[in-house]
Amino acid sequence: MNTAEKITDFKKALPKNVKLVAVSKTKPEEEILQAYHTGHKIFGENKVQELRAKYESLPKDIEWHYIGHLQRNKVKYIAPFVSMIHAVDSMRLLRKINNEAKKAKREIQVLLQMHIAKEQTKFGLSETELYEIIESPEIEEFKNLKICGLMAMATFTDNKEQIESEFDYIKNLFDELKENHFSESDDFAELSIGMSNDYEIALQKGASIVRIGSKIFGERNY
Ligand SMILES: *Cc1c(COP(=O)(O)O)cnc(C)c1O
Repeated sequence: MNTAEKITDFKKALPKNVKLVAVSKTKPEEEILQAYHTGHKIFGENKVQELRAKYESLPKDIEWHYIGHLQRNKVKYIAPFVSMIHAVDSMRLLRKINNEAKKAKREIQVLLQMHIAKEQTKFGLSETELYEIIESPEIEEFKNLKICGLMAMATFTDNKEQIESEFDYIKNLFDELKENHFSESDDFAELSIGMSNDYEIALQKGASIVRIGSKIFGERNY
């Protein structure tokens, strides 16, 4: 199957209320265009330079999601066009995104990334750090961003129970926040969990966004 067929099939099987971010990192523009011409508009990248280059040469109605770890000094390169930043893991980064979005006269959607995996190497906030951010009065002043929900990556494992318990944890946290901290806001609505190897579990556990790379574009050669 080619990319167009794979993404079409994948979307048919996806519940209608779940958004697909087609993760196109390392993949050439022709393949992104094949997916785009099926009508798909949301793509995800995790390197600033690569995203910037693809943004410049590909159709302007693509909705670009930045899904990787983002350094503060690079926010300015994507702020003029990026639609959503998935992996915000500090107040300083949030502040920077707001400032750069303001300069670009835009509003950027963000997700707060939680650390839920066993691996130490994965980025993300602890619960303490999360509450420090959302309880800080400063976030009221961030008029150029919208906090739209949470993002996380589960442990990379074949152990289904492990992944289920990590996704259960973040879903409960999401529900708690929505009820007690964001009840006034319709923006806080997204739970970005699930990749090629664990998206089925993520869907059962309440994902509203899945980020799928290899299942659509094939394995990546780094
Ligand atoms: C690469 C990546 C994905 C997609 O991974 P696949 O296993 O290829 O589906 C999803 N989320 C993040 C944050 C990634 O870096």
